[in-house]
Amino acid sequence: MTEEKFDTLRIHGGYDPAQHHDSATVPIYQNVAFSLGSAERGEAVAQGTVPDAYMYSRVGNPTVGVLEKRLAALDGGTEAVAVGSGMAAITYTILNVAEGGGRIIAPYDIYGAALDEFETLFPKYGIHFDLVTDINDFDEVKSLIKVDTKAIYVESVANPTTAIADIETLARIAHAAGIPLIVDNTFSTSYLFKPIQFGADLVVYSSTKGINGHGNVVSGVIVDGGRFDWNSSRFPQFLENEFILKSETHPDNYSYAAVYGRQAFIKRIRMKYLRLMGAVLGPFDAYLELIGLETISERLNKEVATSLKIARYLQTNPHVKAVYYTGLPDSPQYPLAKKYFPKGIGTVLSFELAGTAEQTKRVIDAVRLFLYLPNVGDSRSLIVNPIKITHREVPEERRAASHITDQLLRLSIGLEDSDDLIHDLDQAIASAFK
Ligand SMILES: *Cc1c(COP(=O)(O)O)cnc(C)c1O
Repeated sequence: MTEEKFDTLRIHGGYDPAQHHDSATVPIYQNVAFSLGSAERGEAVAQGTVPDAYMYSRVGNPTVGVLEKRLAALDGGTEAVAVGSGMAAITYTILNVAEGGGRIIAPYDIYGAALDEFETLFPKYGIHFDLVTDINDFDEVKSLIKVDTKAIYVESVANPTTAIADIETLARIAHAAGIPLIVDNTFSTSYLFKPIQFGADLVVYSSTKGINGHGNVVSGVIVDGGRFDWNSSRFPQFLENEFILKSETHPDNYSYAAVYGRQAFIKRIRMKYLRLMGAVLGPFDAYLELIGLETISERLNKEVATSLKIARYLQTNPHVKAVYYTGLPDSPQYPLAKKYFPKGIGTVLSFELAGTAEQTKRVIDAVRLFLYLPNVGDSRSLIVNPIKITHREVPEERRAASHITDQLLRLSIGLEDSDDLIHDLDQAIASAFK
């Protein structure tokens, strides 16, 4: 059989109705625990040697399991683990890669809560960040790689400027140094961009956003490309023998690297972080995600087309000083956009008003269709002023480089009629300058 394409996998991936009483849609397994059958099978399940066996829903659940398999397939990865939020996905990934301490290279231009965590919380656990202004300054990135550097971490499309990270080059730099590249692909979703195709090792999502697409579930997922070799002294946590992995087939060497090879990362997150720290995704939330995912391609096609139309409209508005949307042909990053994002750069854009802070507030108060709130990737269109809400964590001296000014507004484009959205922005901007 030929490999199934994205639009087929988003409907059928990871699910066999024959295994679930022929139920056409994925059932909600709203239960905590699973009968182990016999004493012999119980022991095997506990050791993790029975494929697709479930025991306790904090560690794995069949509804969540379908979502995990489907999302792994959509990204071209080998395995995925779903967690309770995008922040949990980022946190577990960083801890699993840098456990016991180390350094990680990342840009300043990342999700506000992630930046806050990297700067103020992880250092207390011995994990330090080398933050750079321009992640595509490859000489600087290379110069920061030290013996205790554990990974490079980037967002494929940054927030709110939509700056693009050159994933293929960064993956090459990371691999030459024996470290993985981690990509937060939330803004793009696997429909617009598949980081693993360009060499990324681990992909994290806030599936709260475009993957689910309806603003009704908080969730996260970590996808593994399955290519990185964790059998390295740089990652001693993968080389330690773990009692729970000991079995007759590997009685002496039973570390994650020895037992699971290049599939060790997700296995270890599930058993060390999900099982022990417990930020689990519930089956009903997974079910809602599966429904949202079924229409991802149509949603994004329309939202991306509307985003481009709105970006072009904003460029013609005399009260707009600048539009930040790297999908525009006059963007300096347009060559990267064409290479990595043939279906479009995404559904988030931002613009700077040619006015005062007061006038910017008036735009927020005058929009009627756009909802004023800190979220993206919803079927509703959203507006926010990053400086006051989503990017408060960015230190003042760092804001200018990311265009985080009093006049900056970020839009997340939904599924409404594009002319109605443009009309809404037009009347709101006009009323702010009356
Ligand atoms: C929202 C978001 C997160 C955090 O996700 P939650 O699901 O809200 O925890 C992380 N990264 C990016 C890029 C986001 O937009």
